[in-house]
Amino acid sequence: MQSRVAIEKHFRLTRIALFVVWAVLSTIVVAWSVSAAKQRALSDVMQKAGETLSVQTEILSGVLDKYRLLPPLLSQQSSIRALFVRDAEGNAQAVDARRTAEAIAGMSAARDVAFFFPDGELLANARGPFAEREEGLPRLIAVALQGRLGRAALSNSDGERTYAFSSGVRREGKFVGVVIVYVDFYRVEAAWALSARRIFVTDPSDTVFLANDADWRLNRISGLRQAGSPDHYLIDGRYQERIDLVRRLPVLEWDLHVLADPAPVGAARLNAAAIASLAALLLGVIALVVLRRNEDALIRARSDRATALRLERVVRDRTRALSVTNQSLSQEVEVRREAEDRLRKTQDELVQTAKLAALGQMSTALSHEYNQPLAAIRSYADNAIRFLERGATSEVSGNLVRINGLVDRMAELSRTLLSFSRKPGATIGPVPLGTIVDEALLLARPRARAAGIASITVGEAVSGLHVIGGRIRLGQVFVNLVNNAIDALSGQTDARIGIDARRQGDRVVVTVVDNGPGIKPELLPKVFEPFFTTKGVGDGIGIGLSIVDNIIRDFGGTIMVTNQAEGGACFTIILQAAEPGHADGAGESALRSEGATV
Ligand code: ADP
Repeated sequence: MQSRVAIEKHFRLTRIALFVVWAVLSTIVVAWSVSAAKQRALSDVMQKAGETLSVQTEILSGVLDKYRLLPPLLSQQSSIRALFVRDAEGNAQAVDARRTAEAIAGMSAARDVAFFFPDGELLANARGPFAEREEGLPRLIAVALQGRLGRAALSNSDGERTYAFSSGVRREGKFVGVVIVYVDFYRVEAAWALSARRIFVTDPSDTVFLANDADWRLNRISGLRQAGSPDHYLIDGRYQERIDLVRRLPVLEWDLHVLADPAPVGAARLNAAAIASLAALLLGVIALVVLRRNEDALIRARSDRATALRLERVVRDRTRALSVTNQSLSQEVEVRREAEDRLRKTQDELVQTAKLAALGQMSTALSHEYNQPLAAIRSYADNAIRFLERGATSEVSGNLVRINGLVDRMAELSRTLLSFSRKPGATIGPVPLGTIVDEALLLARPRARAAGIASITVGEAVSGLHVIGGRIRLGQVFVNLVNNAIDALSGQTDARIGIDARRQGDRVVVTVVDNGPGIKPELLPKVFEPFFTTKGVGDGIGIGLSIVDNIIRDFGGTIMVTNQAEGGACFTIILQAAEPGHADGAGESALRSEGATV
């Protein structure tokens, strides 16, 4: 990907190259257009002027041809021939001759018609005095008398110009006179005057004989051209450029000129130059715009790409940083998990320790619990021996049945102890509240008895309720609470402990109450703290209630303590209720129930 500077440089160079190419091409195109336009306009001008020239040549030739034939025709006429006679006195037929001349001039529209005797004497003419037309007369007569057609261009000081044709009149092989027809060009010049172009005729001496500009007539053409630039003519008081188109009128040796105005050529050149320049300029601008747009698009694409790359880099960096954070997080999680595992293990050990501590507390009473039946078994057995010796077998069997009952009771207690001392499982689920309370009391009662507790009552509702929890741990909760109550009640008369429960919505509220001294209000918030104890060294280590609190929390429940109005502590446990009929045990071994009173 090119950098922005490189792109700009590239386009700058392209622009310069494009400009050079554009300049060269534009120059060529403009020059070609101008030249083509000039050619076209020039040929147009020339064509039009040429057409005028042809037409005027035809007209002029037509006029001259018409009059050229008139004298030879007239000289053939016998009536004309008859005019050239003199009477005896030598007088000519002047009157007849003049009438004839007038008639011919009238009909042919000739300027004048004149009859001469061979000696040059005027017989008659059609119009007015003849003096002004005497120039060239001898030559006209002389040529006619040679049998040829005489011709002469004539002009006078008034600027009047005529052309004369002469023809000899023969009678009996002898020239008796000459007919001269004078032609004027008034009509021709009047027709030319309508044309915007200069139209004129020069004779062999380069004198302008006919012209549609009166000022030009009878001037030498060289005098009408600008000295040094022969294509500039004096027109309307100033020299103007004209193109001279010439056609020769062969017999007369006249040149008919038409001056064409080259202005359209200049205008056409100018137009062509302007149009071609504009087109070139437009093309140049379009090319420049296209180039600029390309450049912009390229720069934009480059900047987009750069932005995308930058974004990609940022995303990559962030992703890397995130994955590093993730890694350290997962390491942290791992560390936490390990710490939690350690904590749980420690907690489990603490639970176990607390349980064993409770068992320790209860051990004296429990051993007493074993010793009592053992002593009873002994005395039942002794008595049975004596009954046997006396042959009183029925009493023997009665004693054996009692011994059996005592052994069963001891085995039951032993089983409960064993399962209570085992490490509990971690799973929780629906457990029967009544059974658990019974099992806990089975273990706690011997100590209660030893401590002189009057009664431990369990409410009727307890046996029908199920809660979410773990069997051994929930049993431990009750063992701990009852043990604490026994401690608080020790030495007190009419000491009572009560356990009750009730369903409250989807919860079960269990209470463990005693009628002991209760807990000092300032200590109420502290009793669940680990290692808080009011008992003497060796009597308590202060972890019992803390373990109880943890266990209840693990079950998603809560435990709190209050003092009863009538005295004594009240521990309230709230657990999630479970529906009876569910598989119970929650991964922990079941304890078997026992009697409800001491
Ligand atoms: P320990 O029993 O080892 O002292 P616990 O955590 O079980 O530890 O009990 C903490 C304290 O709570 C006891 O020392 C006692 O002061 C108080 N306590 C617990 N239960 C009762 C009760 N039923 N009546 C009065 N005080 C109690």
